[in-house]
Amino acid sequence: MNKFRMLSKISLFVAITVVIIGCGPPQKPTITTPTLSKTKINIYQLASKLDMKVSNTTSTYVTLENSKNTVLIFTYSDANYYVNGKEAGNVGPVTRDNGVIIVSEALVNKIKPKLIKTSSLPSVSTTPTLPRTYAKVMLDPGHGGKDPGAIAQTGVYEKTVNIQVAHKVAYLLRKWGITVAMTRTNDVFVELDRRVSMANRFNPDLFVSIHADACDDRSISGYSVYVARIGSRASKSAAGKIVTAMKNTRFVNRGVKKANYRVLVKTQCPAVLVEMGYLSNRYQATLLAQNETQQKVAYSIARGIYDAVR
Ligand SMILES: [Zn+2]
Repeated sequence: MNKFRMLSKISLFVAITVVIIGCGPPQKPTITTPTLSKTKINIYQLASKLDMKVSNTTSTYVTLENSKNTVLIFTYSDANYYVNGKEAGNVGPVTRDNGVIIVSEALVNKIKPKLIKTSSLPSVSTTPTLPRTYAKVMLDPGHGGKDPGAIAQTGVYEKTVNIQVAHKVAYLLRKWGITVAMTRTNDVFVELDRRVSMANRFNPDLFVSIHADACDDRSISGYSVYVARIGSRASKSAAGKIVTAMKNTRFVNRGVKKANYRVLVKTQCPAVLVEMGYLSNRYQATLLAQNETQQKVAYSIARGIYDAVR
C-alpha cells in the first residue's frame, strides 16, 4: 500500500519535473519506472554527504558523528531524528536494502543547516598526554549488583553506564600518573557505608562518585556535579572544574549543585558526585549507552579531576 502510494507520488513528481523542464528541445516522453537512486540514499551516503561517519547502528537507530556533531536517527518510517540532542525533524520514509538503511536524499539538505560547522583545524585529540601528577583519586561507580539504579526506557541500567564510564575514567587518570582506586570494579552491590569507609581508609585527594540521573519529566537532560551542603572549598573547586571540563560533552550544563548524599557527607576527603546525564531522557539514555559517548564523558570527567588534583 505505502509503497504504491510512494511510487505514484514519485512518478507525479517526475511528470511535473518533465513539464517544467519541458521548454527545451522537445523530448520524447519515455515511460520508465522512476529511478529510486535519485531520491534515495543509504545511510553511509547520507553520512558522507554531511561530512560525518556512521558511528553506531542498532536495530532501532543509527548515529552519525563528526568532531562537532552527533545526529541520531531512529530508523523506522516517520520517526524523529535528533541533532546534538535536540529533536530536529521527521526522518520520512525508511526502508532497508539487504540490511542497509535507505533514507530520502532530501534529508541531506534538512540536516545540513542544523549542524555546527566543523573547522578545518584538526580536532583536539581526546587523549592528550598530560604531564604526570602523583595524586590519589577514588572513583565510586554508583549502584551495582541487586541495585540497578535508574532504568532507562531503552532498557539501559544506570549501574552499567556508571561502571563502564568509571573504568574509562580510571584508565585515563592512570595514564596521567594518578593512583586510582575504585569502590567497585564489577557488577556487585556495595553498601554506601562501605564505600565511605573505603574512601576514609584510602584517603584520596578526591573522591568522585559517578551516577546518571532520572526524573519524571522526560524532556530534561544534562549533567550536574554535586557537593555536600557544607562541602569543603576543595570539593566545590573540584566540582567546578569537572563541570567546566564536561562542556566538552555538549550535553546541557546543569551546573554545580548541593545535596547531602551519604558519600559526600561522610567522606573525610574532598568529594563530589557526578550525574552524567538523564537516563529518563530517551535520547540521552541512548547516547550514554554508546561507547563513543562514554569515551567523551569519561574524558571530560577525567580531565576535570586532573585539573582539580594536579
Ligand atoms: Zn545513581
